[in-house]
Amino acid sequence: MTVSVVLFTSDLRVHDHPPLRAALRSAPEVVPLFVRDPAVDRAGFAAPNRLAFLADCLTDLDAALRERGGRLVVRHGDTVAEVCSVVRETDADEVHLAAGHSAFAHDRERRLRNALEADGRRLYVHDGVGTVVPPGEITPAGSDHFAVFTPYHRRWAQRPLRAPLTAPRGVSVPDSVGSEDIPARTAVRSVAEGLAVGGEREGRRRLGSWLSRRADAYEAAHDDLAQDATSRLSPYLHFGAVSPGEAVYRASARGGTGAEAFVRQLCWRDFHHQVLDARPAASWADYRPRHDRWRQGERADADLRAWKEGRTGYPVVDAAMRQLTHEGWMHNRGRLIAASFLTKTLYIDWREGARHFLDLLVDADVANNQLNWQWVAGTGTDTRPNRVLNPVLQARRYDPDGDYIRRWVPELADLKTPFVHEPWRLTGLERAAGDYPDPIVTLAEGLERFRHARGRE
Ligand code: FAD
Repeated sequence: MTVSVVLFTSDLRVHDHPPLRAALRSAPEVVPLFVRDPAVDRAGFAAPNRLAFLADCLTDLDAALRERGGRLVVRHGDTVAEVCSVVRETDADEVHLAAGHSAFAHDRERRLRNALEADGRRLYVHDGVGTVVPPGEITPAGSDHFAVFTPYHRRWAQRPLRAPLTAPRGVSVPDSVGSEDIPARTAVRSVAEGLAVGGEREGRRRLGSWLSRRADAYEAAHDDLAQDATSRLSPYLHFGAVSPGEAVYRASARGGTGAEAFVRQLCWRDFHHQVLDARPAASWADYRPRHDRWRQGERADADLRAWKEGRTGYPVVDAAMRQLTHEGWMHNRGRLIAASFLTKTLYIDWREGARHFLDLLVDADVANNQLNWQWVAGTGTDTRPNRVLNPVLQARRYDPDGDYIRRWVPELADLKTPFVHEPWRLTGLERAAGDYPDPIVTLAEGLERFRHARGRE
């Protein structure tokens, strides 16, 4: 065999990449292929922030392959048709692909396998590229997936770690294969002003510097909104610019309570992937239905709009929502507070929130976005589905000096700390000067409505 193809999807890197390694082992020439598939756009994955980040990742992957004597081949169209056409052009026998875990990925994989086999070629699907532990590899007795995190984590942590693969030294790509231009970040409109720079190089730099300089503080500070002490690796993990297996391997080798807490968060990522892999419908259907009759109508629409715009009158909720608009990213504690406020205090369907996050979050994927939304809404895997986060208490605890709120809500920038958390204590005069809205609901009203709806009066 002389040529094999590697189809890149959400694994845009050259380090720790089993499909690339396998393709290089099986043939002297390899086509590293990425297909811009309009079906991905139609499925709602092509939001501007992610398209811009994707452009960075593709540009960087092409540069990494060029440093090794190769290049990235980009095509536009239906993935299956484009792969088959590259396979025929180069007479490749094999295609290598990282396993995906959404319904979309399963369907793509099935169609690709059928098309290639009908043409006498083979598809190799590699596990452990997008997750540390492949979904389905550890299961509880009598089920195909874990529905509760703690026992999953226990088993997950016992698994031996695979040492990360190094990047290949050389990649030889057949000259004859044509490529379309790699999309440029500058061609994408409506990108968040503060969006991070994408790509494997930047992702690896962040991982290295975070592990060496900031990991120790993680356990104590990861929930503190203003300190911004988390790794911010989520978009790099989402696009596969950083390998989750390598992140866990390096953090575990480093050791310490901060690195351990970070590894535990990466286990959450695997946990959601194994739920989605086993229950693809959980992307939009309640994992555990609670017979909710979410609010609808004009008042609910107005509340949803205020939430999206960061004008609920609850400063920490508004700060988080404005961070999302500005950066295309939000602190985890902010996500928890904002999602709890929408689903429990405003009693608006989690799907509305998940859709808005999918529109803006650079790291949004079905597994982590929708299943975290379900977790917060109490329709997912939370073992305490009716817990409600009080945004005032949360703000006092996780933004004690009000710095996060002042950073993102300029109307409150001059307020002293107690008023930052509870601006409705302001006099009418101060409020008018600040142009900050009154709370759109009282917490007592929200709580009563939610308890009533869930039958827990
Ligand atoms: P760190 O604290 O540095 O954690 C390291 C990594 O662990 C993260 O990059 C991420 O890959 C993983 N991780 C951390 N917490 C979680 C978690 N609760 N679930 C799954 N993985 C986790 N994360 C996404 O990657 N994509 C999403 O679309 C997404 N949507 C969310 C929606 C809601 C409503 C909530 C509550 C959480 C969501 N999360 C999502 C999880 C979490 O908020 C982000 O992963 C985290 O904030 C990313 O920041 P970081 O990289 O600095 O995280």
